[in-house]
Amino acid sequence: MNSKAIRKAFLDFFISKQHTIVDSAPMVVKNDPTLMFTNAGMNQFKDIFLGNQAAKAARVADTQKCLRVSGKHNDLEEVGHDTYHHTMFEMLGNWSFGDYFKEEAIDWAWEFLHDKMGIAADRMYATVFEGSEDDNLGLDVEAQRIWLKHLPADRVLNGSKKDNFWEMGDTGPCGPCSELHVDLRDDEERAKVPGVDLVNQDHPLVIEIWNLVFIQFNRKANGSLEELPAKHVDTGMGFERLCMIIQGKKSNYDTDVFQPVIGKLGTLSNKKYGENEKDDIAMRVIADHLRAIAFAIADGQLPSNNKAGYVIRRILRRAVRYGYTFLGFREPFIYQLVETLKENMGDAFPELQAQQVLIEKVIKEEEESFLRTLSTGIKLLDELIGKAADNNKKEIEGKDAFVLYDTYGFPLDLTELIARENGLSVDEAGFNKEMEAQKNRSRNAAQQETDDWVELIKIESTAFLGYDQLEAEIRIARYRKV
Ligand code: ATP
Ligand code: MG
Ligand code: MG
Ligand code: MG
Repeated sequence: MNSKAIRKAFLDFFISKQHTIVDSAPMVVKNDPTLMFTNAGMNQFKDIFLGNQAAKAARVADTQKCLRVSGKHNDLEEVGHDTYHHTMFEMLGNWSFGDYFKEEAIDWAWEFLHDKMGIAADRMYATVFEGSEDDNLGLDVEAQRIWLKHLPADRVLNGSKKDNFWEMGDTGPCGPCSELHVDLRDDEERAKVPGVDLVNQDHPLVIEIWNLVFIQFNRKANGSLEELPAKHVDTGMGFERLCMIIQGKKSNYDTDVFQPVIGKLGTLSNKKYGENEKDDIAMRVIADHLRAIAFAIADGQLPSNNKAGYVIRRILRRAVRYGYTFLGFREPFIYQLVETLKENMGDAFPELQAQQVLIEKVIKEEEESFLRTLSTGIKLLDELIGKAADNNKKEIEGKDAFVLYDTYGFPLDLTELIARENGLSVDEAGFNKEMEAQKNRSRNAAQQETDDWVELIKIESTAFLGYDQLEAEIRIARYRKV
C-alpha cells in the first residue's frame, strides 16, 4: 500500500464510522498567543474542549500537519539521528465531542490497525493509565477491560502519569490515555529480549504509534479533578510511522513518504543513501527539514529574525549545514527538492502546488545568504589554520572553535573536518568547556515549562549576531513563561 492509499484508508475508515472529515488547520498558528505551531491534531479543537465553542459535528477525523520544534514538544535534536521523529509530520486523528467514548475509540483503533491494516496482534502492546495517588485516581479499569477483548493480558501494560495522562495545562480538560505500541524487530531479536521491556524505552523498532486520549475530567484551580458532563475522545497517530509499519520498513525514511526526496538528494550530491551513516543522517535531516520549511512557507510563514520566522530560518540553516558538512554542497540545493516534494504530497496538500514558486524562491535566497555566512566563518578558520602553521601548532584552540560555533554557526564537526583537511586537530576538551560555560549561562536564566499551552513566544534579541548565538537565545526564551 502506498502512502496515499494509507492516508485514504484511515479517512475512509472513519467516514464509515460516521465521522466528518475536516481540513488540517495551518501548521503555523496565527491567532493563539500561547502556541506558535500546531503540535497535535487537537489544537484546532481547543475551544470545543474548553467549552467556548460548539462542535460543528460530534465526530470528526483528519490528517493534521504538525511541527514539534519548540515548547513542550521539541523533537528537533532527535530528527535525522533517529528514524521515527520528525519536525513536521502528519498526525492522523479521530475525535468525539461528547459522543462515543472509550469502548468505540479502542475497538475502532483495533479494527483499523489489526483487521484493516493487518498488523499482527503479537506485535502490538497497549498501555493504560495505572492511576495516581495525588489525583485520587485508580487504574483505568475500563480501558483495560476493552483492550483485553483484543489483546492477551501480557500485552496490556500499565503506564505512568507521564505517558498515560494528558492535560491541556495547569487547569482545564484532561484525562487518562491509552497508547498503542508496535514491535517491528526480527523474530530472532524478539526471542532474545521481550518487547514488553522495550515499550516507551526509545527503541527505534518498538515504537508508539497511536495515542487515544479520554478527556473525562476538568482540573480545577485548586488542583482537584471533577468529572466532565460531556466526555470527549482525542486521538493522534503518526502517519509516517504507520506507513513504515504497513510497508514493512524499519525506518520512516525508507517509506515512499521520504524516498523520492532522498533519491533526488542522492542525485544532486552524487551519494547513495544507505552507504555511510553520517551521510545518511544528513540526508534524513534534509529530507525532513525540507517538509517543515516548505509547509511553513506555504502557510505564509517566511523565515525571519523573530518568533516563528526565526524558528523556520533555524531549521533551514540546520539543513544547509548538514548538506554543507556531509554532502559537499557549496551552492543552494534544498530549493531543488521542492518539485519532488510537491509531486509526492501536492495531492493531499494543494497549498504545496499553489505556492511552489514562492517556496522555491524563498528557500533559494535563504540558502544563498546562509552559505555566505558560512563562507565568512571559513575565512576566519583559514586564518586560524595559517596562524597555527606559523606557530608550528597542530591544533585549533577550543575557544576559537567555540567562537566559530557560537558566532558563525559552525558545528564542531565542520571545524574538525576542515581542520583535518589541513592536517590539524581541534582541542575538543577546550571547546566542551566553553560550551558548558555557555549552557550554564542559559540554565541560570531557564525555568522549565510543562504545559501544552505555554510556549516560547518571546525572543530576546532580533539582531543577527550569528546563527547559534540566536539559537541559544531561543533556547532560553523557550523556558520562559510569558
Ligand atoms: P514519542 O513518545 O514517540 O515521542 P509522543 O508520546 O510524544 O511520541 P503524542 O504526543 O502522543 O506523541 O502524539 C501522538 C502520535 O504522534 C504518537 O503516537 C506518534 O505516532 C506520533 N508522533 C509524535 N511525535 C512525532 C514526531 N516527532 N514525528 C513523527 N511522529 C510523531
Ligand atoms: Mg514525543
Ligand atoms: Mg510517548
Ligand atoms: Mg504519546
